[in-house]
Amino acid sequence: MKSLSQIVQNTPASGIRRFFDLVAELDDVISLGVGEPDYVTPWRIREAAIYSLEKGRTTYTSNYGLLELREAIVAKHIERYGTGWNPRTEVLVTVGVSEALDTAFRAILNPGDEVLIPEPCYVSYAPCVLFAGGVPVPVPTRASDGFVTHPEAIAERITEKTKAILLSYPTNPTGAVMSREGLQRVVDIAVANDLYILSDEIYDRLCYDSEHVSVPALQGAKERTILLNGFSKAYAMTGWRIGYACAPAPIIEMMMKIHQYTMLCAPITAQIAAIEALKNAEQDTAEMVADYDRRRRLFVKGLNDLGLECRLPGGAFYAFPSIEKTGLTSEEFAERLLREERVLVVPGDVFGDGGIGHVRCCYATATSKLTEALERMGRFLERLGTMGE
Ligand code: PLP
Repeated sequence: MKSLSQIVQNTPASGIRRFFDLVAELDDVISLGVGEPDYVTPWRIREAAIYSLEKGRTTYTSNYGLLELREAIVAKHIERYGTGWNPRTEVLVTVGVSEALDTAFRAILNPGDEVLIPEPCYVSYAPCVLFAGGVPVPVPTRASDGFVTHPEAIAERITEKTKAILLSYPTNPTGAVMSREGLQRVVDIAVANDLYILSDEIYDRLCYDSEHVSVPALQGAKERTILLNGFSKAYAMTGWRIGYACAPAPIIEMMMKIHQYTMLCAPITAQIAAIEALKNAEQDTAEMVADYDRRRRLFVKGLNDLGLECRLPGGAFYAFPSIEKTGLTSEEFAERLLREERVLVVPGDVFGDGGIGHVRCCYATATSKLTEALERMGRFLERLGTMGE
């Protein structure tokens, strides 16, 4: 047989997968592993989708997505951040942020183009760059200053091949947020070096202590930014597979070409549900976010009480404690915690080298489960002899 794709072969499978395979063999696991709300999609959104099916709305839509949805997306961004796009030419509805990411990289990269990616970061960024023929260039961030991206660290890594910077605040897996000033400095570097910016703002609604800063709203950013966002996290709609990109028309036109030949369009039922989410589910989101905030405080305090040092993350729904003092690697910690106490966390190094010595815990789970998970972690640390150190 002839050899398969070199690019795909050389890309390692996600380090998270092995843990999910292990979980399948065990009973009574408390999972803090998957980055997914424990809420069901709010009823009004499900009802709108059901009603659309009753009415027989089961066709393809425009490749760009339903115009009503694109208009609602733009209206929401104007209302929240003061930035708007032309809904006819500057918005593309996609199959989750996942598809928007893949399509965006394919639309902007030529072979060998470099993309600067602050890490630790979401596991898909580097593979998407590789699949598009580009070269991911990690930009390390540090726990000691809250995992923010330093403009100097970006500037040092710019070469004549650098094409884009990826930003994602609030961040998966650290929950980090960045100040307006900090982000503006990164944007200024992009402007000075004529770089594109991909801003994955899927956690924009999950900001607890400060207002979200939307990158395209910053000075000089909009004409070079591809904004990616979706419905999975804010509206508990992970299974619907719906997201979008907003960018200058020539970029959206390129992305649309790829989307048209590969996806055709996002599912119509999910699009109709997304319209309802944007127009009428504000209160549902606010209630979920308030609940995540309560869980965040409880869980992060619990981790620190156990001696696992963890900053209070400003956004998303992840805690990213240091497990260094246990003397275990992230992978050993996660595997032993799972086997011995049936708590699933994700080793921090699967998100990049900056995650070495950390684990990711998703606290979007019931308070009773979080409390139980903390008890189990306490027993585990006691056996290791590091409890409360
Ligand atoms: N971007 C980030 C930072 C994520 O954490 C995730 C999912 O966990 C995604 C994108 C994928 O989102 P979607 O469900 O919209 O494809």
